[in-house]
Amino acid sequence: MNIESIIPYMYIAASVFFVYGLKRLSHAKTARSGNMVSSIGMLLAIVATLLYGGMSFKWIIVGGVIGSAIGASAARLVKMTSMPEMVGLFNGFGGLASLLVGWAEYHTIQADPASGSLFTLIAIGATVLIGGVTFAGSMIAYAKLAEKMSGKPVLFKGQQLVNGALLLLSVAATVMFCVNPASTYGIFIGMVVVSMILGVLVTIPIGGADMPVVIALLNSYSGLAACAAGFVIMNNVLIVAGSLVGASGLILTSIMCRAMNRSLANVMFAGVGATVSGGKTFEGEAKTVSAQDAYLMLEAASSVVFVPGYGMAVAQAQHVVKELGDLLEENGCEVNYCVHPVAGRMPGHMNVLLAEADVPYEQLVEPQDVNPTITNVDVAVVIGANDVVNPAAREEGTALYGMPIIDVDNAKVCIVLKRSLKAGFAGVDNPLFFAPNTRMLLGDAKASITHVVGEFKE
Ligand code: NDP
Repeated sequence: MNIESIIPYMYIAASVFFVYGLKRLSHAKTARSGNMVSSIGMLLAIVATLLYGGMSFKWIIVGGVIGSAIGASAARLVKMTSMPEMVGLFNGFGGLASLLVGWAEYHTIQADPASGSLFTLIAIGATVLIGGVTFAGSMIAYAKLAEKMSGKPVLFKGQQLVNGALLLLSVAATVMFCVNPASTYGIFIGMVVVSMILGVLVTIPIGGADMPVVIALLNSYSGLAACAAGFVIMNNVLIVAGSLVGASGLILTSIMCRAMNRSLANVMFAGVGATVSGGKTFEGEAKTVSAQDAYLMLEAASSVVFVPGYGMAVAQAQHVVKELGDLLEENGCEVNYCVHPVAGRMPGHMNVLLAEADVPYEQLVEPQDVNPTITNVDVAVVIGANDVVNPAAREEGTALYGMPIIDVDNAKVCIVLKRSLKAGFAGVDNPLFFAPNTRMLLGDAKASITHVVGEFKE
């Protein structure tokens, strides 16, 4: 029996593992095993691919060793708080890998035009365009998340026209190298450059609170680029895996748009936040509390909602928050954790941290479930969240306008844990800090909660 004849069956098995793994990823309880199932699928796909005849194992080993060394050291060295920008980089390199697959295939066809069909050439055009946009766009997203460039939208006159012209240019280049693949290497390189410029230009106008949509969209693009690369080399498992990433990324994009209450077109083309300043300046006197006073309020509460945000990730306060939640429950208090879909710096950021601290899934509640009855909540504890609880989102003219928030200002008492009165990621001042029922517990969230827990234990 020819060993290559079993490859399609292994690819089918790998695809089933991917789909089943993805299904398990949709629930926090089964997510870990879902990851494992998908990894087994990937191993199967790699082994199957290595069974093809004529492989240059020398280069595969060199690439595998270098890639594994970079991956393993990044996994060990990159801090949990830097995971969002790391995910941004991964998306980008996925796009670059697909672009390089397209380039390698074009290189072969350019030398021997008879070896490439029109379909393959069109697929190469799609791979280069989507891969280039994904790579360059992800680098900008990385720079914004890592605060290596300003998160503010960058807009200039005629930006949409320039983007449209660049898109047309890439399509024209694809048509040209489809018509004459033998003599057009310069055009191909030009297309690579144009796709990357396009990636930069479509990402820079998006800033502030709209970044989650971009990240989800770039994730989807990286899948679509892989899918197109699958058509270039006619590899079924790459087509399936790419489509899964592309489709799930689009679903995530739609969830993020809904969370922001914006349409995709509005996020992509309006440069929200560029025309308005960070927002109005809200002034007043913020009332601070000590950890001991916060303890007294919590000790007397019969219902508490924790609202985690990016600051909880920075402080790595999730374990001590869970400890406080347990102590409150022992005290007869009803405890819930309300997670806003865009809290943190990557989709699902807060859910991952709370799952890591073993917060029971049943205690996680959605903003739309909490908001209607939040007036009955005795204490809302905001742990390093800012934009997702900012009432300025209700005011026209602020960069956050329209985004649904968690209405902690309507709870009986709201304790906000952060280090200063500074604005959040979107740069909009927060009137919550000056509300009559708000108490600011200033300092590192982990240190503050550890202090409160200490009071409970005394
Ligand atoms: P924000 O970024 O609005 O605010 C976080 C707050 O945490 C800061 O104001 C900071 O205040 C505080 N903080 C930082 N470190 C600590 C610490 N050690 N202890 C206590 N507090 C701390 O966070 P949110 O989660 O409310 O909102 C997320 C924002 O990020 C949204 O605008 C969202 O659109 C955006 N975004 C989300 C992405 C996603 O996929 N989820 C991706 C990209 C952007 P201070 O400095 O005073 O302590």
